[in-house]
Amino acid sequence: MAIIVQKFGGSSVANAGRIRAVAERIAATRAAGHQVVVVVSAMGDTTDELLGLAHQITANPSRRELDMLLSVGERISMALLAMALNDSGIPAVSFTGSQSGIITNDAHTNARIVEVRPFRVQDELDRGKVVIVAGYQGVSYRREVTTLGRGGSDTTAVALAAALDAEACEIYSDVAGVFTADPRVVPDARRLDEIAFEEMQELAESGARVLNAHAVEFAKEKGIAIFARSSMNEAGETIVRRFPPRAPGRVVGIASERNLAWIGVDVRDAADAAAALGWLDARGLSGKQVQIDTGRLSFVVGLENVPDFDATARALQEGFGSAARVQRDLSAVSVVGAGINAAFGHLETTLRLAARRGAPILSTSTSSFRISLLLAQPDPDDLVRDLHVTLVPPA
Ligand code: ASP
Ligand code: MG
Repeated sequence: MAIIVQKFGGSSVANAGRIRAVAERIAATRAAGHQVVVVVSAMGDTTDELLGLAHQITANPSRRELDMLLSVGERISMALLAMALNDSGIPAVSFTGSQSGIITNDAHTNARIVEVRPFRVQDELDRGKVVIVAGYQGVSYRREVTTLGRGGSDTTAVALAAALDAEACEIYSDVAGVFTADPRVVPDARRLDEIAFEEMQELAESGARVLNAHAVEFAKEKGIAIFARSSMNEAGETIVRRFPPRAPGRVVGIASERNLAWIGVDVRDAADAAAALGWLDARGLSGKQVQIDTGRLSFVVGLENVPDFDATARALQEGFGSAARVQRDLSAVSVVGAGINAAFGHLETTLRLAARRGAPILSTSTSSFRISLLLAQPDPDDLVRDLHVTLVPPA
């Protein structure tokens, strides 16, 4: 019998009624003759609420204790969903990440899955049960509870699908698939029927929230197709998988990210830069768009999964004095598509639109898939709309 992994996001399990609706969908999949593994997120805004509670207690919660706290959200929804299924006569059992064999490294609040040993999941499937797994969490080799970074339930779903050799991995959320931009920001954004792993990974790494970037990376590595759908009876889906390269130079979408910080450290040479990176690494800080120019190391940090950034910024100032600078409240916009930088046209248009908006550009970077602008403003939405109108071709 084929295994199907279905993941339901926070809004899909936001209250008792929605949980019962999800149970019905699972029942239908099971009735169609599949073994079903379900991965759930925390109900509604539970994770944000738990984070808020922690910050009412202390400005600097330890990452370990945050993981103990945040992992509770998914335990609530998994147990309620198992109860809903049992109530309608379908045998179901819920497991934490640890019980499901999700083994991670020990990077608290942003851990990476290193291995999946889903023996108990497989046993219960063989007993005819639906298995509900708490998303977004795992256990380290030191037996510490870890979480996978915000949006990490997607990663749990893809990792389980790979380990169980599932036929499909279906990700249900409040939007019906992957759009050319966030439809809440760009009402004219259109759904992509299909998208290649590489393009999806670039969109997700540039801030598109519809799928978690680590999850897509995992799916690409293991060749797991992802079906992104809405859980709210809205038709349509996007299939993310290996596709033959499409016509190069076509923009697939515009993504954006908020809550970024820029860090710059004056360095004398490469050895000096390496020492600074070692210092940051030892404090659990990592970044992207790392640049080492004459005399300066700089990079960008997404603050979402860095709950103790204030402490790190203070330590940086103490350790490096005036050689270190931190700039916060930044955002970024990215134009994504394979081969879009083969000529300068897209970059030229992007810069022209940014200039017309008066967007304060801190830096510009490109890869063969992407143009990214780092902006000294917290809200990138206006520029996202401008770029979408001009650069995203109609279907
Ligand atoms: N509940 C977690 C979050 O809000 C994980 C997830 O939703 O995937 O980030
Ligand atoms: Mg959530």
